[in-house]
Amino acid sequence: MRISRRDFIAAGAAVAALSRTAGAAHSPAAPPAPLVIDCQSHLYFPEILARMEKRTEDPVVFTKDGERWVRMGPWLRRVLPKHMDVHAKLADMDANGISVTTISINDPGPEWFGADGPAVARECNDFIAGVVRHHPQRFAGLCVLPLQDMRASLEELERCVRKLGMKGILLYTNLAGRFADEPEFRPLFAHAVEYDIPVLLHPAKPITSDKDYEMISSLGNMFDDTIALNRILLSGILDQYPGLKLVCPHLGGTLPYIIGRIDHQVQVLKRGPKYLTKAPSAYLRQVYLDIVSPLPQAMRFAYEFMGADRLLYASDHPWVDPKLILDGLRSLSLPKADEEKILGGNARKLFRLGA
Ligand SMILES: [Zn+2]
Repeated sequence: MRISRRDFIAAGAAVAALSRTAGAAHSPAAPPAPLVIDCQSHLYFPEILARMEKRTEDPVVFTKDGERWVRMGPWLRRVLPKHMDVHAKLADMDANGISVTTISINDPGPEWFGADGPAVARECNDFIAGVVRHHPQRFAGLCVLPLQDMRASLEELERCVRKLGMKGILLYTNLAGRFADEPEFRPLFAHAVEYDIPVLLHPAKPITSDKDYEMISSLGNMFDDTIALNRILLSGILDQYPGLKLVCPHLGGTLPYIIGRIDHQVQVLKRGPKYLTKAPSAYLRQVYLDIVSPLPQAMRFAYEFMGADRLLYASDHPWVDPKLILDGLRSLSLPKADEEKILGGNARKLFRLGA
């Protein structure tokens, strides 16, 4: 499917802005600063919090000591002031030289809202599209879909791509306990390929939880990323849809680090699916990883394993200070051309900002 003329004009404006913003802080004699695109960044908005405040079942929002919290079972997260403040996000982008951010709502996604899922998805996507409309040179939108209802999801996806100009799909690592590689979700991947937009996995309330040491966000989310991504690789989805542009956040959870074992299990010990045409590690190298991991050695390993063309700068703002991830990347002292690809060059092509 082709992007509309309106999308094309919006994308053209964004790219003109990219060039201006990238060079704005420098004198004419200085080389332009590299384009920086943040590929993971979130907002909440009043209506979604109010909706969760009225609920008696998770996900629930409650207020304690003047602060709002999102509760999903034992997983409690504070809603940060910057989650609700577009101008604070823009200020943090400016302070870090970030030209454009692909924004989405945070979790929980629409699949947690039962029959209200389609309405919740529309509400979330209208909000994100509204922010992009106000700041078309600084933001691109990622949509969420009510995947408990595939028909409604495909209708919403068409609206998001054709009418709202969304640039990608935020897909949660599990859909209220189900994994996205399950056969009933395949139309989602087929349509992502048809629209030529990336699918970005994003942590949700993880299947593996922990009550003792608050490890849900630290390990639970990362293992959910790992399992969700590995399931997609082993499902054969990348053979079925070779044009699929898949992004996994947080350096792919732990997957790059343990993919050798998975290759060995599948290929040598013959444990796993028999229909794959490549080693699991070869599928992994087809995926893009964002680099939200505050450990430069982990980034370096991902760089060596995946190559510069498959990594994307992101911050997970406002949970993480964008500077932490930028400093980590720059501490690697990669070849300039590779660093520029990771900072924004890859994302510009992937999200077709200016295509
Ligand atoms: Zn995130």
